[in-house]
Amino acid sequence: MFDVIVIGAGVSGCAIARQLSRYKASVCVLEKCEDVCEGTSKANSAIVHAGFDADEGSLMAKLNVRGNEMMDDLARDLDIPFKRNGSMVVCIHKEELDGLKTLYDRGVKNGVKGLKILSREEALEMEPNLSENVEGALFAPTGGIICPFELTIAMAENANVNGVDFRFNTRVEDIRKGEDGFWHLRTNNGEYVSKYVVNAAGVYADKIHNMVSADKMHIIERRGDYCLLDKQVGGYVSHTIFPQPTKYGKGVLVTPTVHGNLLVGPTAIDIENKEGTATTAEGIDALTAKASENVRNLPMRNVITSFAGLRAHLEKHEFVIEEVKDAPCFIDVAGIESPGLSASPAIGEMVGNMLRDKMNLTEKDNWIGTRKGITRTEGLSVEEMNALIKENPAYGTIVCRCESITEGEILDAIHRPLGARSLDGVKRRTRAGMGRCQAGFCSPRTMEILNRELGLSYEEITKSGGKSNIVIERTKGEV
Ligand SMILES: Cc1cc2nc3c(=O)[nH]c(=O)nc-3n(C[C@H](O)[C@H](O)[C@H](O)COP(=O)(O)OP(=O)(O)OC[C@H]3O[C@@H](n4cnc5c(N)ncnc54)[C@H](O)[C@@H]3O)c2cc1C
Repeated sequence: MFDVIVIGAGVSGCAIARQLSRYKASVCVLEKCEDVCEGTSKANSAIVHAGFDADEGSLMAKLNVRGNEMMDDLARDLDIPFKRNGSMVVCIHKEELDGLKTLYDRGVKNGVKGLKILSREEALEMEPNLSENVEGALFAPTGGIICPFELTIAMAENANVNGVDFRFNTRVEDIRKGEDGFWHLRTNNGEYVSKYVVNAAGVYADKIHNMVSADKMHIIERRGDYCLLDKQVGGYVSHTIFPQPTKYGKGVLVTPTVHGNLLVGPTAIDIENKEGTATTAEGIDALTAKASENVRNLPMRNVITSFAGLRAHLEKHEFVIEEVKDAPCFIDVAGIESPGLSASPAIGEMVGNMLRDKMNLTEKDNWIGTRKGITRTEGLSVEEMNALIKENPAYGTIVCRCESITEGEILDAIHRPLGARSLDGVKRRTRAGMGRCQAGFCSPRTMEILNRELGLSYEEITKSGGKSNIVIERTKGEV
């Protein structure tokens, strides 16, 4: 029995959980996967959008701009990387220059600060690898880049330290209002009861909504394919380069990531498949062609991996954050497509305030608003490294060669609150396996550590929970 149950441990659910953890209330997050950040929050462009794209007056615009403003403090408090690298919307056809002015005006109305329309020369001076056809650009200095895994994980960890319960591998299968007036949630792990439910289930938010409401919701999964390029070419552009937006979204961008790679994508393909995250050759060809219109000689030979994410698109293209009319005490957080990552702190704030007012919640005296991230060895001097190794010799063993991740970092990832239990759990917390060889070298070594530290047999260790086991059976008996 909880005061509030949040369904979904994506960036929305974790932001809401963290906000609720300020109050004297029992809160539980139910997540069908084995870890946080397993849905759309793990596969996106990782841009903290400035906020000029969403329609004036929309909730999307309001929460985007507010979330963007909150990100500096949040990144500082949770010890996660965030960089305001600035974004540019590039125009390559003279007749489309008016479009930049429209975006500029919309941005100003949305409250975006510092917008500027650049001439061809100014744009090329700031980004020498832009297409020679560039006619002008809209520059937004408040645009930024963040690590979506670290943002989501850090908010979850902080919520957990403040008392929020997280139940993984727990899929909500049905919801009904009991005679006791509470919500009863049937899961594969038994029944949960709560006074309030928050539906933050990403592309599944329609399924969850439709369990309690006669007014049906339909989410369209809009797939976006990406290519991630090696750090060798991470500096090919320094700003996030967008084309002009279309009705399908913000278009194919080229951006540095906060960890120094180059990211190209996404496409926008409606697929009506909630698990359809396979990339396609056509998708990759399309994104390469589109991105090459704005950035010249893109170094696509340096691709190290490709992936796809699913936008939870609603026909009206707007965030739906409200109490469901025919289901009191049930809050939808649905249609959270882009800019959901940027808006997440503001989504947390909005839902937290909503529930605080409805439930008359009062603040805890002992809420901890900060969190210390994993000690990173990247960029440390030899002296600093030696001091760290002296303190803990595990920092002297490199496990992931591509990203130079040490055993000490992996141990920290496993043993901290809501620690990693799979290869991807370790990867998203430490970057071990994210480099050029894409975990070819470090997987067996990370498995050894998971085996030793968690007592998981090799057959039990998975890539990312569920049936993603790596070792199926032994061919040579015990060693
Ligand atoms: C291609 C693409 C590019 C994007 N780029 C950006 C960007 O650059 N900037 C930006 O701001 N936004 C971007 N977004 C949007 C952003 O990624 C999303 O808005 C955000 O990640 C949504 O988070 P969420 O928590 O609502 O959903 P999710 O991350 O999908 O989380 C939902 C969670 O609910 C769980 N769940 C579902 N059903 C159940 C159930 N029955 N029981 C228990 N748990 C359940 C899922 O397993 C999942 O973990 C992009 C999205 C895509 C797809």
